[in-house]
Amino acid sequence: MPDELLDRLRRFHDDAFPQYQSTFRLLVDDGQHPTTLFIGCSDSRLVPYLLTGTGPGDLFLVRNVGAFVPPYDGYVDDPRDASGVDAPRGRTQLEAARRWVGYHGTAAAIEYAVLQLQVTRIIVCGHSHCGGIRALYGDVAPEARNLAQWLELGREATLPVAEPGAEVLRRTEQRAVVLQLERLMDYPMVRERVERRQISLHGWHYVIEDGVVLVFDVQRGEFIAASAAEHAGTGPYHHYDDPAAPAAP
Ligand SMILES: [Zn+2]
Repeated sequence: MPDELLDRLRRFHDDAFPQYQSTFRLLVDDGQHPTTLFIGCSDSRLVPYLLTGTGPGDLFLVRNVGAFVPPYDGYVDDPRDASGVDAPRGRTQLEAARRWVGYHGTAAAIEYAVLQLQVTRIIVCGHSHCGGIRALYGDVAPEARNLAQWLELGREATLPVAEPGAEVLRRTEQRAVVLQLERLMDYPMVRERVERRQISLHGWHYVIEDGVVLVFDVQRGEFIAASAAEHAGTGPYHHYDDPAAPAAP
């Protein structure tokens, strides 16, 4: 029985790899030095290399459902647990209402990219028609325990409607991107470098059907088409070359 996937692997080695062989050789000999951490949704229609015109060695990629950033300290506030909870010994009621949500490969990738690879840009890229965002307004299969928990990382971005239309979903997708940028700033190694202007944060919303990346402009508080934007969407915590900006300490 033909195995199409196996055929593709063989074709990669025979047809595609020779064009990249010297590039990969260099990346092995010198190691990888990507300057960009790209946190994107796992959606198959989001192809980071296509969007950014990059190739091997350029992007340190981490992808998950929704392009979410887990909290640095491993906990999320869970008001549902706040009532009627007997605080376990040694924990306050408030602490008991915070839920442990670690371990997270995404959190580990952020720490590695910043501390080890010393990236200078972190992109959070959501997109149109995101199933993860849509799921925030519906039910998740009961056996999908991990997915249900994971989706809570986007909960704050939702709007108070029962049945979201296209506009609400688009706004939620964009609000979720901003929420993740804010959560990134809770990582001490990220905050420190953003404040020193060694790292810039970029919030993107990719509109699949139009081939347009909307970039978050913190000063205007909105997402702007890349064709009309003045920069690649740095925000919400500054850092682009603004001559009027005060010098970094
Ligand atoms: Zn998605």
